[in-house]
Amino acid sequence: MKTDGKLHEECAVFGVSLTADEAAGVTYNGLLALQHRGQEGAGIAVVCENKILCHKDSGLVGEVFSGEDLENLPKGRTAVGHTRYSTTGSSTKENVGPFVTDYLTGRIAAAHNGNITNAGEIREKLRRNGLRFDATSDSEVVSALIAYCITKEQNTLSGVIQAAGLLQGAFSLVIASGRDKLIAVRDPSGFRPLCIGENETGTAVASESCALDVCGFEFARDVAPGEVVVIENGRIICQGIKFSGTGDGQGLCIFEYVYLARADSVIDGLSVYDARFNMGGVLAEECPADADIVCGVPDSGLEAAGGYSARSGIQLASGFVRNRYVGRSFIYPSQTQRDSAVRQKLNPLAANIRGRRVVLVDDSIVRGTTLEKIVKSLKGAGAKEVHMRIASPPVLHTCYYGTDIDGGDLIANRMSLDEFRNKIGADSLEYISMDGLKQACGQCALPFCTACFTGSGARAGKNGLE
Ligand code: SF4
Repeated sequence: MKTDGKLHEECAVFGVSLTADEAAGVTYNGLLALQHRGQEGAGIAVVCENKILCHKDSGLVGEVFSGEDLENLPKGRTAVGHTRYSTTGSSTKENVGPFVTDYLTGRIAAAHNGNITNAGEIREKLRRNGLRFDATSDSEVVSALIAYCITKEQNTLSGVIQAAGLLQGAFSLVIASGRDKLIAVRDPSGFRPLCIGENETGTAVASESCALDVCGFEFARDVAPGEVVVIENGRIICQGIKFSGTGDGQGLCIFEYVYLARADSVIDGLSVYDARFNMGGVLAEECPADADIVCGVPDSGLEAAGGYSARSGIQLASGFVRNRYVGRSFIYPSQTQRDSAVRQKLNPLAANIRGRRVVLVDDSIVRGTTLEKIVKSLKGAGAKEVHMRIASPPVLHTCYYGTDIDGGDLIANRMSLDEFRNKIGADSLEYISMDGLKQACGQCALPFCTACFTGSGARAGKNGLE
């Protein structure tokens, strides 16, 4: 578990089909843009002369792929890539995607973002049919199921459609077949984002549109919930194919807008930046404060702070300087040094803070482990008052759809609002309402999953894997 008190996404996926041999390099660039969705492992699988070659390991994208590693991978015309944050299965190299699975007449590589709620059951059935598993993640189960169904159907597309219909929970998938096909699949609820971009060199599929931008693809559209899209030789050859699954009756994860996605992405018709700015505006209306300046907690509280300032008329100011280079190099050998870790990353800007009454806006409170240090550091820098405003409601329930939110860890389940406000030393603490959050994201084309806030629709089991 991470120590920053935030929730974490399980993975990012990227896939590309090109008319020239550049797929591995483009996928590497795509994964760099999606690094925020998973920092524990990364991998790329490239199709080359009916074979699929894969390189993956634990670590950040730039650590997993040295220049030499990239040189050693075939360049290829079709590739899929994956970054991982482990919420199911341990954080080992074996659990990093993409997963390459052989079947009777071929090979596929699959990259998966989400959480399969019936993965344990499927794995047992496949085991009884003689399949072997090396890892403990649900993504390996997805890849094995697809390979199994392709063998049964004797057709790649029919096999993928059949497998998708058997999966429950959250899944955005990109699949490469040894025959240079790239297939994108999104679960019927559309929990996790998945979009398509095109340019004159080919077509790419990515968890977020920021990766399409960075790699020079023009956003074409989102993959629809419950849709399969087939791409070959750089062009979509088949789309709008539906499969028989019913989903879990939810919708797009509203936390994508709150925290998970990058602000420069557009998901299902709504810009993440706009959504966060709107959240700040609604928050200012619902939870006003008598203050001199508004500051956001970097980075994901900054847009909501802008919205709060615009709606309230209170001046927006930088409250912190963020050390962008600290990364994972900071070491935590003692409690004292652990405490200074937050300070190493975020140092208050005393010139702006001193003698001021501050509205401090953050996107969410999940475990609440760092807020006390942040508020203390503002007061230490001379803030007269600190009024915390949170751009999402209290998180109360476990997430079963691809993040590591666990009901037992949540601060809102362990303390009353007043106890927590006292603990962090804030002068006031208020959250946006659920209706307010939905209103801020009202331009999204899909209904939302809000299960971790409301408990509605949450399933009883994670996925049956360790
Ligand atoms: Fe997102 Fe919460 Fe639903 Fe999980 S439970 S998918 S974090 S909205």
